[in-house]
Order: sequence, then structure tokens, then C-alpha cells
Amino acid sequence: MQIPQHYSAVPGVLQDKVILVTGAGDGIGRTAAMTFAQYGATVILLGKTTNKLTAVYDEIVAAGYPEPAIVPLDLKGATKKHYQDMAATIQAEFGRLDGLLHNAGLLGVLTPFEHIDLPTWQDIMQVNVTAPMLMTQALLPVLKQSAHPSVVFTSSGVGRKGRAFWGPYAVSKFATEGLMQILADELDQTSLRVNCINPGATRTSMRAKAYPGEDAQKLKTPADLMWLYLYLMSDDSIGVTGQSLDAQPK
Ligand code: NAP
Repeated sequence: MQIPQHYSAVPGVLQDKVILVTGAGDGIGRTAAMTFAQYGATVILLGKTTNKLTAVYDEIVAAGYPEPAIVPLDLKGATKKHYQDMAATIQAEFGRLDGLLHNAGLLGVLTPFEHIDLPTWQDIMQVNVTAPMLMTQALLPVLKQSAHPSVVFTSSGVGRKGRAFWGPYAVSKFATEGLMQILADELDQTSLRVNCINPGATRTSMRAKAYPGEDAQKLKTPADLMWLYLYLMSDDSIGVTGQSLDAQPK
């Protein structure tokens, strides 16, 4: 299957799809949620800070897009039971889930390997790896109710090649790539596709934390990346699975 280097979504390409976005209150996730809604999807907004989710909800409703749902959840403390309850609610409300974008992420602090501390390591693994694993596990039955479900994980350049000082964050993104590959391989004979997006350097608060001295105006914005998010959530990517794709191809 040929994967495009760019994609122009037609209006309504996500019509009638139900898509859950984690970290939907800020950064790339916020733009992804708005964009999916703009293209016709009913979006389930999951995030840590309720007032950020409410602001996205209001913006979607004000724009006249399909009314979203809100799931306030801190992935750091969430348990298997939280995800099972969420899956049951989605099943009852919508009867299926067509798309799942694992976008929420924690950077931690950039530090030499010798100074990595266990609590920070555990928090990053919890939010970036364990939470998406448990959430996907719980949501698989409801995803399988969709004709062509799409699961998208969010990786990073440092999840493909290690870089000094990126410690736990980089390790968590290597794990994300592995999780995606294993799931895609297991589900190869089904209609469920699983892929990874590497957003590349993008103008968000996470990037500003990692590179405080950088001129953010020179960076791509989340909106610049949306072609790939739309592609992977639309039926135009049916058959594409197990891929790790760049939202800013060289
Ligand atoms: P961001 O602006 O910091 O946004 C991260 C989002 O994740 C926020 O909505 C945040 O919610 C949510 N989140 C963090 N911890 C959470 C938790 N415990 N429970 C629930 N939600 C939580 O980051 P971003 O730059 O948009 O990054 C989005 C994804 O792209 C991440 O996976 C990141 O690793 C990846 N990425 C980004 C870049 C880049 O240059 N920006 C490059 C490569 C990869 P709150 O706002 O409520 O805390």
C-alpha cells in the first residue's frame, strides 16, 4: 500500500466516525480533536485538566460540528477499571469506536542518565506506555464493533534513535513503537489497523519545555501536521498498518 507524503482530506471524510483523542485539551491533541470534529467526527475528548477539555468542547459546539463528549481522566492514576468503565460507556452511548488517538504524553525533565530518578521514570512510563496499553486493551472490543477501526500511537524521533539526556521519555517512545508493532502484527488478519505518528518538532508547550531557547515561530504548528492524522483516521488509509510515519517528512 502506497503511503502518501501529503493528503488532502475532502470535507466530511470523518462523517459518522466516533474518535477518542487523549490529551485533547492542549497542543497537538487539541488541534487533532478540533480537526476531526471539523471533518465530521464525533470526538471523545480525554484529558487531565477539565477546564481545557470544556474549552475545546465549547469551541467545537460553537463551530457547529458534531457535539463531542468529555472524559476527564488523569492517566497517571487511572486503573484498568477506569478504562473498562469508559469502554462500557462508549459501547452504551455510541455502540462502537472508530478511531483512537493516543496523543497524551509526559516529557519529564531532560537529564543525564546518572541523574534519572525512579519516580519520574515511573510517571513517564505510566502515562506514555502503561496507560495507552491498558486503554487499548479495554477498548479493543468496542473498536472491533467498527467496520474499519484505526488506532494511532504517538511516537517521537527519540523513540527511533536514542539521544543523550532524553532518558525516560525516549525509552517510553521506543516502547510505544514496540507496542504498535506487536499489536499491528497480532491484528494483521483483522480490519483493525494500528500505526504510529512521529509529529516532529512542533510548536507546543512540551516542545518549549524541551527547547526553551528556541524561536518557536520557526516551528511547524499542530495544524501543519493534521494531514497525516486525518489520513490515518479516514477510510483512505484502510490497509495501512504497522507503520511508523512522519508528520513532517524530510
Ligand atoms: P503538550 O502540549 O504538552 O500536550 C500534552 C497533552 O497531554 C496535554 O493535553 C496534557 O493534558 C495531556 N496529558 C499529559 N499528562 C497527562 C495525564 N497524566 N493524563 C491525561 N492527559 C495528560 O504536548 P504536545 O507537544 O502536544 O505532544 C503531544 C504528543 O506528541 C505527545 O505524545 C508528545 O510526546 C508527542 N510529540 C511532540 C513533539 C513536539 O515537538 N511537540 C515531538 C514529538 C512527539 P493537560 O494539558 O491537562 O496537562
